[in-house]
Amino acid sequence: MVRQLPRFKCLYCDHCCYFEKEYEMPTVFPWEKRLLEELAENLGASLEFKPLQVYMDNDGSCVVTLYRWIIQGYCPFYDREKHRCRIHRDKPYACKMYPLLLEMPSGKLMLSGKCDWVANNKRVAEQLSRNVNLIPRVFPNEFEAAKNAFIEFSSIAEYVEKKGLKPVTDLKTCATIMDIDEYIARYG
Ligand code: SF4
Ligand code: SF4
Repeated sequence: MVRQLPRFKCLYCDHCCYFEKEYEMPTVFPWEKRLLEELAENLGASLEFKPLQVYMDNDGSCVVTLYRWIIQGYCPFYDREKHRCRIHRDKPYACKMYPLLLEMPSGKLMLSGKCDWVANNKRVAEQLSRNVNLIPRVFPNEFEAAKNAFIEFSSIAEYVEKKGLKPVTDLKTCATIMDIDEYIARYG
């Protein structure tokens, strides 16, 4: 039965590049955000991000470890005529792993019900939910992206814990705000 598992093949339906609800919008690491901003500038598009996970040190400096990429409707990188992502090679982990969804910090993997391939392969999805070890067989590239995102997330979490940074929700209390990789480069 396991041998019959099909391999995921994108159907180019566009459901993963159109957004209405904020919780479905991609989460990105700070360096992914900056790359996206650079790529958008080349296309003359402007992007919006919201800090999603922020920590504060003892001096009141805040560090952003994750952003929510706010996309209303179609992603500005989506080519609606060709049904393709215009930044395929540079897209963030959240897009590379789709239709896998990675829950942080647990590392739990889920399948997006928005994806046409998942909807057309309900039996496979059920099989995978019973045996998550089969996920890499069906989604090898997507699993690799999810694994790499989790490694990055875990290494940030480890740094935050080692430095004793505390979660913060009200950014008005921050003396300064910077991205986690910039903070690490500055303070080690
Ligand atoms: S970056 Fe590409 S894959 Fe990701 S939402 Fe935009 S168009 Fe879709
Ligand atoms: S929702 Fe699924 S099938 Fe549709 S374009 Fe995205 S990955 Fe491909």
